[in-house]
Amino acid sequence: MKLPPHWPPQLRKHLSFIWSLRDRRLSLWVALVGLVAAVLITLVWLAGRYEASQVQAALERDTQDAVNDIRAGLMRDVQALQALHANRHTAASWAAETGPLLREHRDWLRVEWRDAQMKLRSHMDSPLRAPSFSKTPRTNTLNDVIQACQRARRSNGPAYSSSYFVPQDDGMGFEVTDLCLPLVIAGETVGYAITSYSLQELMAEQLSPDFGRRNEVSFTEPDGTRLAVIGQHGRGVRLFSAQQLLDLPGLTLVLRVDGRRGAPDLFPNVLTALVTAMSIALVSVLVLLVKDSRRRLKAERDLAEALAFRKAMEDSLVTGLRARDLQGRITYVNPAFCQMVGFKPAELLGHNAPMPYWPPEMVGEYQQRQAIRLAGNAPPREGYESVFMRKDGERISVLIIEAPLINVLGEQTGWMSAFLDITEQRRVEEMSRASQERLQATARLATVGEMASLLSHELNQPLAAISSYANGSLNLLQDPAPGDTAQTLADLHLALKRIAEQAGRAGKVINSVHDFVRRRDQDREAVTPQALIDAIMPLMQLQARKLRVRVVMKFDDKLPSVWCDRTMVEQVLLNLARNGMQAMDRPNCPERVLLIQVRRAASNLEHQWVEFIVTDVGCGISAEVAAQLFTPFFTTKTEGMGLGLSLCRTVIEQHGGHLEFDAHPPHGTVFRFTLPVPPQQPTQRG
Ligand code: ADP
Repeated sequence: MKLPPHWPPQLRKHLSFIWSLRDRRLSLWVALVGLVAAVLITLVWLAGRYEASQVQAALERDTQDAVNDIRAGLMRDVQALQALHANRHTAASWAAETGPLLREHRDWLRVEWRDAQMKLRSHMDSPLRAPSFSKTPRTNTLNDVIQACQRARRSNGPAYSSSYFVPQDDGMGFEVTDLCLPLVIAGETVGYAITSYSLQELMAEQLSPDFGRRNEVSFTEPDGTRLAVIGQHGRGVRLFSAQQLLDLPGLTLVLRVDGRRGAPDLFPNVLTALVTAMSIALVSVLVLLVKDSRRRLKAERDLAEALAFRKAMEDSLVTGLRARDLQGRITYVNPAFCQMVGFKPAELLGHNAPMPYWPPEMVGEYQQRQAIRLAGNAPPREGYESVFMRKDGERISVLIIEAPLINVLGEQTGWMSAFLDITEQRRVEEMSRASQERLQATARLATVGEMASLLSHELNQPLAAISSYANGSLNLLQDPAPGDTAQTLADLHLALKRIAEQAGRAGKVINSVHDFVRRRDQDREAVTPQALIDAIMPLMQLQARKLRVRVVMKFDDKLPSVWCDRTMVEQVLLNLARNGMQAMDRPNCPERVLLIQVRRAASNLEHQWVEFIVTDVGCGISAEVAAQLFTPFFTTKTEGMGLGLSLCRTVIEQHGGHLEFDAHPPHGTVFRFTLPVPPQQPTQRG
């Protein structure tokens, strides 16, 4: 298989190795299948051969038995002849005893009784067939008989002539041999009993009919010339032959048996059955092995694909991955991590603390952190932030999520960490925080501008009073009442006291604005709701007086403090109060009441909450205005900035609370927001 050139060399090497293994395994399989096939064929062939040798041996045995049968039959014939000639016979008595014998022996063609000079004394042809020697004069064959008888006399026992062909009237003929038995009385040969055998009939008579039915049995000469045949070999695939020598005195014949045997049965014997069963088992095992190997190959292919997929996934991840062993050495880094820190994998793998990407000034702290981690303490699940240093020295902010690395046996082998580069995110957050602060400052200034006009109006009164008391005092000094110095001093004292009072009042007004505008640290602290309201009260009263609004306060008993940045929350309260009062600044709103309530809100699992509610009976908020209420710079007022509510909501949400509004039937609007109670805060009067 061709591998895409852009795949990393390591992966290409790995996959090529797997495929080369597969090729090698394939050739091993081919060799195994070939070997098994060869073994099976050899076994079946050997079993077949064994079968054939068994058949051959059986045929040899049968042939040997047949020869023995023939020999025994001939011996019985000799005994019958000897019994015939045991008594002295006349021609008539000889014929009377020979007749039944000829009838019993189908293979006897003719029996002759000759004297010692071979002169025929009497003879008888078989009554079972036409006389055999009618066509050929006996003299033609007498020579053979004479030789046989000479041999018989020498050995004083039966002897056979060599076989000869006797033609018949029908044009056919048969092979004949003669048995010559010398007739001895008192040690002297007195004659010969000669029996002519048809070789063919001899076989038919002496062998069982069953034998001839299954086989072709023949007498042949030692050189292979066929002399007589009976039976025929049955139908069969294979021809088996067996030969046995029938060695008679004076005559040597070969008994040849040819038999055909059909194809052996499927399981002719236990061996073949065993071999076949084993072959089937072997082939089944082989099939199973091939199946198993196929499954393995598929698993390997899947594994290779999974490996390639994992590699591709690792390469395309933007999250940096790093694995460390239990000693803290880096064992794996992905390309994203290398890109993040600017080091090559070779520069990182096997590295232990201090890592090359640790900023030098942080090494101590990080080493401590690593020691804690290696001691087995799991890091926070949500991760933690850290600062790394790129190879070029640039610092980057990263979010690290770390988890124990557990192997398949469930043992921890190290730590796996994921890194997210949050440098850009932090920069954007910083920018947004700065712009938020700028907006807040702008909003505060806008409020201040608005208040400046109120201030001038409010300061007018004390200043006018101071001025008139001062003028009065001056007049008293320039033109004191004659003779009543004590009264003058008392008047002056009163005037100065009033001046001091008015100056104090003006100072308070100015201080309240100063306090509000002055930027304070955004630290959270526990503040009582009362303190929050008190801080904005002078400013609120300024506006209330101008717009002829009655401010009504309603506090629950035993209110806890709230955990907040008081400057910001004061601004929220001031904003809501101001909006409410402005909404009521219209001619058709005779009873102008602004209700400020503070009460406990339903607490949830994490916190207890305090709710601030600012209710006006003003114009209310239409659906169109409501849709954009919290959009920065949305305003319906000519002098409005439209920043108030959007900032209010941001501030409250930064504290974890909610800011919401509702209509207040029949007129007006209710704004409410919640602030958290500091944990384990003792309740106190608000
Ligand atoms: P500004 O006060 O500068 O207009 P805000 O964000 O505080 O900006 O308010 C936006 C708008 O919301 C106001 O212009 C006004 O139309 C509407 N609004 C705010 N509070 C109320 C209120 N209590 N009743 C009626 N309308 C209100």
